Amino acid sequence: MKQKLLGKNLQELSEAAVACGLKPFVGRQIADWLYAKRATGWDRMVNISKDSKARLQEMYELGTSAPIGSALSSDGTSKYLFKAGETNAVEAVLIPDEDRKTLCVSSQAGCKMGCKFCMTGRQGWHGNLDVADILNQFVSIPESDSLTNAVFMGMGEPLDNYGAVSKAIGILTSPEGFGWSPKRITLSTIGVLPVLKKYLDEQRCHLAVSLHNPFPEERLELMPVQKAWPLSDVVGLIRQYDFSGQRRVSFEYTMFAGWNDDKRHADALIRLLEGLECRVNLIRFHEIPDFPYRCSPDVRMEEFKNRLNNHGIVCTIRASRGEDILAACGMLAGQHSQQ
Ligand code: SF4
Repeated sequence: MKQKLLGKNLQELSEAAVACGLKPFVGRQIADWLYAKRATGWDRMVNISKDSKARLQEMYELGTSAPIGSALSSDGTSKYLFKAGETNAVEAVLIPDEDRKTLCVSSQAGCKMGCKFCMTGRQGWHGNLDVADILNQFVSIPESDSLTNAVFMGMGEPLDNYGAVSKAIGILTSPEGFGWSPKRITLSTIGVLPVLKKYLDEQRCHLAVSLHNPFPEERLELMPVQKAWPLSDVVGLIRQYDFSGQRRVSFEYTMFAGWNDDKRHADALIRLLEGLECRVNLIRFHEIPDFPYRCSPDVRMEEFKNRLNNHGIVCTIRASRGEDILAACGMLAGQHSQQ
């Protein structure tokens, strides 16, 4: 199988050019086409000679691939489905919002973490995406040129595929790559503790943590990760880092009626996060088949939000996007795998 050029950094692209008997600067030209200009085909790379392309093509493929499916929501949200390996598919979701276009990217085909409310978790784990698969979600959608932000919040747990994710972040943020500021990227995790420490030490991107319930025994009911890496340890680790400047931390809290939405939960959350510079995002739960929980009523969400805000914790209700195109993580890809 040929190696992919997409996903290689500048040094690796230069080495690839040299391996084909070409000058190292051809590597810089490829980086410019793939990352700055988002070229998805050789034909666009007009300053690379025919002969050089032929030599490169003997050993390498570009690694770009068009979506195999898409769906557009009435609210402007778009979902794209990409092939991952022979039989799997992953989703990327484009969320336009005023002057932003945020791409929600997948990092794995399926997921090992088994959160009970998540369609991706139900599918089990089918493999890690490589760096090219991750970056392909950025370069192969029609809106590629106008993307402003990215969240690693799609299918999979990004810290369970940290090697590929960190390299993708490196290419997104390097001047020879996309040239993005780390402030444009947020990684969302359920709290894979040892890798989270690495992420916080190595990266300057924002962090989002899937919290969902402040009580350990209740959280464990829906999130098996609580057993290996308790939330209190995750928050303890986060407290060791500075989030008062450029880098921000937020906590994702999906609202389930009767499970995590009363005063007791709000007060426990306030105690857990006291003094931490952070934000809490309340998320409407998109119902999934064969799962008994429903989303909390709006009035309950408002009360919860106000209680947190009144205790000095910035809390917002996240607008629900793309419900008409199966917006819950993993729904479109799940549908694809059943076909
Ligand atoms: Fe995996 Fe995230 Fe789904 Fe949990 S919520 S199963 S970590 S994709």
